Amino acid sequence: MLPSPGPTLQFLGATGTVTGSRYLVESGGTRVLVDCGLFQGYKVLRERNWRPFPVPADSIDAVVLTHAHLDHSGYLPRLVREGFRGPVYCTRASRDLCGLLLPDSGRLLEEEARFAALKGYSRHARPEPLYDEEAARAALRQLRPIEFGRQFELPGGMSASFIVAGHILGAAQVTLTVAGRRLHFTGDLGRPADALLPPPAPLPPCDVLVCESTYGDRSHPHVDGETEIATVIRRVAARGGVAVVPAFAVGRAQELLLHLARLQQGGTIPRVPVYLNSPMASKATSLYRSHIGEHRLSAQDCDALFGIATIIEDVEASKALNRRRGPMVIISASGMLTGGRVLHHVEAFGPDPRNAILLSGYQAGGTRGAALRDGQRTLRMFGRNVDIRAEVVQLQSFSAHADADEILAWLARSATPPSSIYVTHGEPTAADTLRARMRRELGWNARVPDQMERVDLGVAADAARD
Ligand code: ZN
Repeated sequence: MLPSPGPTLQFLGATGTVTGSRYLVESGGTRVLVDCGLFQGYKVLRERNWRPFPVPADSIDAVVLTHAHLDHSGYLPRLVREGFRGPVYCTRASRDLCGLLLPDSGRLLEEEARFAALKGYSRHARPEPLYDEEAARAALRQLRPIEFGRQFELPGGMSASFIVAGHILGAAQVTLTVAGRRLHFTGDLGRPADALLPPPAPLPPCDVLVCESTYGDRSHPHVDGETEIATVIRRVAARGGVAVVPAFAVGRAQELLLHLARLQQGGTIPRVPVYLNSPMASKATSLYRSHIGEHRLSAQDCDALFGIATIIEDVEASKALNRRRGPMVIISASGMLTGGRVLHHVEAFGPDPRNAILLSGYQAGGTRGAALRDGQRTLRMFGRNVDIRAEVVQLQSFSAHADADEILAWLARSATPPSSIYVTHGEPTAADTLRARMRRELGWNARVPDQMERVDLGVAADAARD
């Protein structure tokens, strides 16, 4: 008889890319998946969502989610549709956010499939969505919320716990104990001084660390967010322009509203109308109210957020905005211009040089947001080319991710270095730069794993101790 295999960790995603986070931990025939993300951005990555999952979905015993962003949670409905029946552990706020994000993702996938059918550009006669809204709602029934800091049991004698990551509401780092080995997943790490969220909790002692590297080759400039946004808004308002702000519905939209509210209250910017045109963002904003204590906002701050903006709910009101004149500010999703209502605003206001498009976060390669940031001034939208003559500003101070200096400082505070370190969730240069800096500045040996690479956790930990 074959000996029972030792614990292994396999990288099913987030290698060479910031999307598709999926890590498979196996021990004695039990399979636990940490994160279950969608691949996004370049087509070659998105196509991976359509490949069969590397192990049968019904052979996975449990899923543990670090946070609700789709590149960490968005494959879950598909996994359930393919037969996964186990529990999905996450924090309470992550469960609430998944309740918004996953059905919305299903709806968008359905729309894309319908659009592809209409335009006939799919290779398939009847293009099917990866999953639909109903499948997403079905997947939500498997979510099991767990408090921060509480150890919980997983199948196969494994256990896990969540600590604060400070990246978005509910975001967690996960420590998973398997066969006496402690594996720590940073998930996405937030910043030490964020306007909305607490700093990431210190790295606990662990044998194996899986560390994100989104900004592994960059330092965020030391710019004050409020000052930066005030400068742009004053400039655009003075010329009667419209500031279109593509923003992630969860986190970024609320951060922008908080700054705008404070700036208008302090008289630093004129009281131009502010519109929040994203039903998802307005629902996410109300979630901050129900999770007081998990972020830096008081109940009064939450009221100020709601007070400053006119919330646009229905499609007709959204279209009507495009007929209004500036000065005004429109915050709308998606943050990287991959879809959503903001595209209609960019189409309407992008051609006028009085207006401005304010990119407010990370722009993944292959997205319209990245194209604009890199100086491209023609965007393909709704099957036609749109010339962009509006001012394009990449806001520098907004990021939900720690930069390289912040990650290294966070690691350096750890009393005991991990025996093995894997650097993931970064484009190739970012991941390798962070790996090299860990070696040079901390004396820690790290490795950037390949897609589908599997490591023996016993061997991994012992080898690195030599
Ligand atoms: Zn994230």
